[in-house]
Amino acid sequence: MTMPQVNIVESHQHETANEAVILDKVSKTYQMGEVKVNALENVSLELPKGEFIVILGPSGSGKTTLLNLLGGMDSPSQGEIYINGSSVGHLNTTALTRHRREHIGFIFQFFNLIPSLTAEENIAFAADLVKNPRDTQDVLRRVGLEDRADHFPSQLSGGEQQRVAIARALVTDPPLILADEPTGSLDYETGKLILKVLRKIVSGEGKTVVLVTHNAAIAQMADRVVRLRSGKVQEIKQNPVPLPPDELEW
Ligand code: ADP
Ligand code: MG
Repeated sequence: MTMPQVNIVESHQHETANEAVILDKVSKTYQMGEVKVNALENVSLELPKGEFIVILGPSGSGKTTLLNLLGGMDSPSQGEIYINGSSVGHLNTTALTRHRREHIGFIFQFFNLIPSLTAEENIAFAADLVKNPRDTQDVLRRVGLEDRADHFPSQLSGGEQQRVAIARALVTDPPLILADEPTGSLDYETGKLILKVLRKIVSGEGKTVVLVTHNAAIAQMADRVVRLRSGKVQEIKQNPVPLPPDELEW
């Protein structure tokens, strides 16, 4: 009578929680009719908190699949995923939604702002999903857009829209920010500005950022680089002296 419940709780906690993310032999297979696609194969990773992590790989290597698993948009076919010490790989839909809202901030290549809402309203919309959101004006200030609060997305440049998207990710105060090719649709200078904002979130606010890209130059600003190829981890490398985003060239 005594132990079973305790054991159930413990089995959902990992002993060490210094890692923002742990993947333990994770595979993801998509069944397309007769054909099986192994998007991720036996991926094991430990990503410490407070780092800027770049997942680097060519198109089709499984980057977005990996990010979607971390963010609880999808579940692994095999293996376990721990985010901040809690097992999330096999949660039900309701629990996954809560995990997403409370622990994860998403940034996408095409910003994904709601066109009929102003910058500030887009951020407030996300803030309403959590119990203790940050102040919308404050997060707008963080990304240098306090004077664009009342602009609609169509009245903002691509870089400004992406900064609104970053503010939206920050307003729920998540420990983990996931960015999928966040500079992919921006010009060179604007892309570097966005990378600077993301770097500041790690250095200044202690967040963990996982950014996926096919652009090898961006890897030079990472604390840690994970190379993916055909759904497998090819190499994990620490970067003792990450380059400031200003000095990146591509
Ligand atoms: P990347 O982001 O690195 O370009 P993806 O993670 O999007 O790669 O895709 C990895 C592989 O999995 C690709 O071969 C892709 O075609 C396949 N894939 C991704 N999502 C799906 C899906 N929902 N259904 C079927 N196959 C998919
Ligand atoms: Mg992708």
